Amino acid sequence: MEKVIVIGSGCAGWTAALYTARANLQPLVLAGKQPGGLLTTTNIVENYPGFPEGVDGYELMTRMQKQAERFGARASFGSVEKVDFSKRPFVLTVDDEKMEAETVIIATGASHRHLGVPGEDLLETKGVTYCATCDGALPVFRNQPLVVVGGGDSACEEAHYLTRFGSQIYLVHRRDSLRASKIMSDRTLSNPKIKPVWDSAVTEILDAEQGRVTGVKLKQLKTGAESLLPCAGVFIAVGHSPSTEIFKGQIEMDAGGYICRKNGAMTNVPGVFVAGDCADHVYRQAITAAGMGCAAAIDAERFLAAQNQ
Ligand code: NAP
Repeated sequence: MEKVIVIGSGCAGWTAALYTARANLQPLVLAGKQPGGLLTTTNIVENYPGFPEGVDGYELMTRMQKQAERFGARASFGSVEKVDFSKRPFVLTVDDEKMEAETVIIATGASHRHLGVPGEDLLETKGVTYCATCDGALPVFRNQPLVVVGGGDSACEEAHYLTRFGSQIYLVHRRDSLRASKIMSDRTLSNPKIKPVWDSAVTEILDAEQGRVTGVKLKQLKTGAESLLPCAGVFIAVGHSPSTEIFKGQIEMDAGGYICRKNGAMTNVPGVFVAGDCADHVYRQAITAAGMGCAAAIDAERFLAAQNQ
């Protein structure tokens, strides 16, 4: 029986592990399908305090893991398939095996949202990608026109990163102004290699028949005009959805699937706590996820202390 199981290994998960480890609770971190979380797909993190030169996302997560392990946290690369929060101890099914835990900290984060247009799924990994840092350097994208979809910080970051490889980066956004922070917007719009395509939606990604990306069909949303934009890659950065599927019916969530937090990091199930992007559709920053991980760990520690009194 584990005292604390942390589900997820992003900023929230590893911070929760660090704090619960330092409280001598030997947390078990179930790292899931994407160890290190979404930050490992980020090139340079410039806004995590303490790193004036910025820090590589993968390195930051590796350091967080090492720091938590130094105090006794353990990592397992299992993925949770099912949870039973109906009674304590809680039961988790992990890669077909059952695990029991006195407390659970959910830190499953979020995953990339899809556009849902024809060609997108068929051409995934064949020119359609959700991570410029992971795929941008592939030979197929070198010196080719590339399309980034979205208007937030992620889209700006992807577009910037891709200027190293592509001949021209088209930033296709459905409105006529960016949602991204001022610094990212200014940087993006002043880069001569990035050309914004305003008020436009990608309606189809071509060419599924050829098994590779050759272009996108665009619709100008103000005029309704349709056009074809040739490109070798489509980088989709239209936000995230919480990774909370396995908790449906077990825990209170809002209409968007985000887990509801109450009184700090508590959920509606006593003994189950939550932290990070799976419970946050407002801030979604590495530092806020880490802060929520800390809060969840302190709440879990106090919960266990109260049980043992
Ligand atoms: P986001 O801020 O939610 O932006 C998503 C963008 O995609 C928006 O521009 C949105 O358009 C567009 N969009 C959503 N659904 C769409 C659809 N179906 N078709 C076309 N466009 C669609 O997401 P994000 O950029 O991933 O950022 C998430 C959070 O992480 C934010 O808090 C951001 O500040 C943070 N972040 C920070 C950094 C950094 O500081 N370095 C880097 C990356 C992310 P609308 O604008 O019309 O809604």
